[in-house]
This record gives sequence, structure tokens and C-alpha cells, in this order.
Amino acid sequence: MAAPSPSRWITRARRRLSELGRVQVELVYSRRYQIELPGAAADPLRGERILAFLAAQGLTSARHLHTPEAATYRQLRFVHTDDYIDSLSRPGALLPIVGFDLPDPLPDRILEAQRRMVGGTILAAHLALTRGLAINFGGGLHHAYADRGERFCLWNDVAIAIHDLREGGFSAPVLVVDLDLHDGDGTRALFADDPTVHVLSIHNRTTPGVSTAGATLVELGSGVEDGPYLAAIEAGLPPLLASVRPGLVLYLAGCDPAWDDEIGDWQITDAGMLARDRFVVEQVRGGRKGHRLPLAIVLAGGYGQRAWTYSARFFAWLLSGKVLTPPSSEDMTLARYRATAALSSSHELTGEEAPGKSGADDWGLSPEDLAAVGGVRARSRFLGFYTRQGLELAIERSGLLDRVRARGFSRLILDLELDNPGGETLRLKADGLNEPLIELRARIDRNAVPEMAMLRVEWLLLQNPRARFTAERPRLPGQHHPGLGLLQDVIALLVVACERLHLDGLVFVPAYYHTAAQGKRLLRFLSPEHEGLFQAIQAALAPFPLDEATAAFEEGRVVDAATGQVFRWQPMAMVLPVTDRLQQQLMAPDYERQAEAAAQRSFAVRPAKRPGGG
Ligand SMILES: [Zn+2]
Repeated sequence: MAAPSPSRWITRARRRLSELGRVQVELVYSRRYQIELPGAAADPLRGERILAFLAAQGLTSARHLHTPEAATYRQLRFVHTDDYIDSLSRPGALLPIVGFDLPDPLPDRILEAQRRMVGGTILAAHLALTRGLAINFGGGLHHAYADRGERFCLWNDVAIAIHDLREGGFSAPVLVVDLDLHDGDGTRALFADDPTVHVLSIHNRTTPGVSTAGATLVELGSGVEDGPYLAAIEAGLPPLLASVRPGLVLYLAGCDPAWDDEIGDWQITDAGMLARDRFVVEQVRGGRKGHRLPLAIVLAGGYGQRAWTYSARFFAWLLSGKVLTPPSSEDMTLARYRATAALSSSHELTGEEAPGKSGADDWGLSPEDLAAVGGVRARSRFLGFYTRQGLELAIERSGLLDRVRARGFSRLILDLELDNPGGETLRLKADGLNEPLIELRARIDRNAVPEMAMLRVEWLLLQNPRARFTAERPRLPGQHHPGLGLLQDVIALLVVACERLHLDGLVFVPAYYHTAAQGKRLLRFLSPEHEGLFQAIQAALAPFPLDEATAAFEEGRVVDAATGQVFRWQPMAMVLPVTDRLQQQLMAPDYERQAEAAAQRSFAVRPAKRPGGG
């Protein structure tokens, strides 16, 4: 028997060392969790943003990523009554659960998305038992009872997952640690008669009239801050771990206790949220007491655009042992599109052969090429690069079409018009709708910025023909329908196209004040004078909501404060730099100085004439 060679031993020892510093966690997610509810504060991309952040930090690997199936009806029946399950397919059944009426096909999509999340929690529970630690980037639907759903929760995923493990012969006690802001009332009602499952819920208000058997409840009221919250958890969790002696812990790591949550009424800081999550994991997985219990984590509540950052910070710490700060949502969107763009090779997008691959059984000629052979050189590529099929592939893989589908549109058709005299036009249409959801006209522009090649967006329309204008989403100039809510995504996709085509950046000229204001989160004005001018205008319009601000321009009520002259909106180019050289030009001290000087102008807004008034 030969001893292992020293080099091999060193490699192995190194690997063991690195494994010690890195916890292995199984991650469960499906894009089908995404559901866009009009008017709801839940971020449909929460799971995806968390995942993209972890991926950007190099903390994920395909081996530990799992896609769940939707829970079967058999699994739903472990917990829910047949009458309830049947009732959900009736029209209007979701109204009492989600609180407002939903147009078709949204009810079906919600049912499907939440069934998929139940499947995710089932999978995460199984993975926790076999591999130690698993996270479902969804689930935590703790307000669902056997015979009814409440507050957005249709199926009780945690209860179904426990029953599924029981079916498979797992009989050890289970502890559910529910730290969502709200009472885990559905879950504890479901296990009131089951001594093998204990629910700890620390929340703002206890739901009256629900059995408290087999549960530990801590009601903290409103406006809770870090100190009392963490004290309650430190007092509540360790004794239960000792007395229940669970074989599995299910943790609902809801983020709605956070200070900036759009629904919650607590004041837990960023640091407080992370301290909470760390405490739970250290107690369950390796605290001083040395527990090393299987742990499955689900997202549960968390509302608004920053909800994802709490989970992202928690999971990044779990995976790396480091405290990492997630970036803004805009940067995250771009990172997401970059990551998926890397999946498509350029020959897939252009239809050209991969280098070194022989074209023996396919000459690679498209009908457009044949037309060219015949003497008519028809344009066959979008931006001289993407074939129709390549473009469809790139957009599908980016996830943009899934996001459109999540808004309830089906049978999407990509329509490419390359001979439009106004410029190459791309349209995304949906079944049964005459008007496009997305319309983009773009060309490569070598004149807008000296010595640089830009992707010029001549026209970009994003609209939801099925949505209606409301007081919160009023009609803006140029709009026939409310927006689609995908501007950030489309811009990110265009940035990725710039990178693919080696272009320096995006350029576009907003036709209205509101378009510029919306673009301003990602773009700068090409000229420093315009940048400063716009800042001055924005300062004057700051007290007004966007629709009133843009109406002030349309009605000629924005005036130069010094001269009293009406200032009309004028075409000014905005750019989003992609290459470093353009970025440097826009960040140069000279640019900043000139912008600052131009920003000294001051504007005033005249009051609107009241209709019928004088
Ligand atoms: Zn909640």
C-alpha cells in the first residue's frame, strides 16, 4: 500500500481547510415564483435578486442550486381540505385572500406560483435532512389554514413540508421558528393537536381565537426596536431547542420587521436584522451548546424594494462568513442580465458557425442570405449582428420574457422589422393584443459622441395595454396605457447588447420631462450644461409628483426665475456609459465643474389655472 504523495496530501488538506471556512448550503428557487400583483408591495424579483447577489459574490454553484416542482394535489391534501382546494378554481375565489379582484390569468398564475413555492419548501426540508442546511427563496405562507387562505397565503408550505417528511417516515420533533413580523397563526392552528411540532412565533399582534396549543407566542406590539426584539429571541429560542429537541428546524426568516418595510410597523435596523438571523443559525447549527440540527430556511414576509437586501446579507454571511453589503437594485438588475448574457455565445446570436466547427452538413445560409445571392441585399440582422432567432434566444435567456409572462401575458411574439424607414424596429406582442407591450427602435450611431460608437435608442415604448390609469399611476404625456414596469430591465438588456457589440454606451433623447426624470437614475446628460440645467429644473419641480411636474412643462408653466421667460422642454441627449473611456469623459472634473455652473440657474413653476376659474 503506497502512502499518498505529499503533493496530493497537501491538495486534499487545503480543500478540507477551505471547506471548514465555507458552509455548504443548498439553494432552492424557481423563476416561476415571480408573480406581479398590481398594487401589491411584494417585490416579485426578491428571490432572483438575492440569488444574483450571491452569484455575483461567487457564493453559488450549479451543484447546490435546485429547481423545485410544483407541489402535487396529493401533497396539498396533507394539510388542506378538498372543499378549500376545489373552491380556489372558482372565479373570484382569491378576492378574500389577496384583498382585491384580479384579472385573468393572474389568479391561475398565483395558484401556480404558490404551489411551486410549496414544492420549494418541501424540497428544502428534504435537503436540510440529508445535507444539513437549505434555503427556499420563497415560501413562508404562514397565514394559510386547512380550510381557508388569508393575507396572500393560499397554501401552508411549511405545514405541507412537515407532513411530506412524515409520509417518508421522518418522526423526530420539529421546531418552527417564525420570526416574520406577523403571527404564524395558520401554522400553529394546523399543529394544535400535534405534539411533535412546536411553533415559536415572535410577532407584533397575536391573532385572537386561534388555538395556542403546542406554540410559544411572544407578542411585542408596535414600533419595536432592536433591543427588545433581540432580547425576546434570546430568551425564547434556546430553552425551546433544549426542551423540544427537534430533529429539524424550519425558520421563517421574514424581513417585514425591518425599519423600512412598506407594510411593517417595526424599527429593526439593518444590523439588528442580521444579528437576529445570525443568532438563530448559531443556536441551531453550532452555537456554544453544540447543536448541529438540520435547518431549512424560507423567506416569508418582506415588502418593498429593499426587502431582498436583508435576506441577501443574511445568506451571504451564511455562505461566506463575511458581512457583505448588497448594491442598489439598478446595479443588481444589470448584474443579473450580464450573468445571463454570458450564457449565450456569439455564434448562437448571429447564426454563424462557431470557430473551428465545420459546416459540412449546413451551409449556414438563411433565406435572407439567398436573397442577397440573388442580388437583393436585404438586411437580415438586428443592429447588423443578431439574427431573429439569436435575438429571441438572447431575450428569452435573459429572463425578460418570463418577467413579461409573470404579468399575465401569454404566447409572446417577437416581431422584427428591419426595413422600417424610421429605423430597425423590434416589437414584443402578446396573444390577443393588437398593441405591442414593448417597441424599440434603435441603430448604431457614430456621430452622437465624437470618436465613439453608441447604441442610439430612437424610440422605446413599454406599456401594459391591460392596465388602467389610477390616481397612483396617472396618465403621463405620450402614454396610451400605463407602463410595463420593466424599464430597468430593458435598459440592462441594452447595456449587455452594447457590451456584446463593443459599443461605448447608450444614447437617447427624452421627449418629455418625465422620461428624463425616470431615466436619470441610470443615465447622465451628454453635455455638462444639460446635466446642470436638468438638476436646476428638478430642484424647482421637486415639490410636485411626476405627472404634475411634466404637466407644468406641457402647459408652459416652467419659467426662468431670473427673466420670467417660459422655459420649454428641449431635446437633450442622455447617455449611459458602458466603456471606461466614455465613463471617464462623463466623470471628468471638467464635466462636473461645467455641470455645477449650469445648475446655478433657477426656475419657478407657475400655478395651474383652475378649470373654469379666472
Ligand atoms: Zn409578515
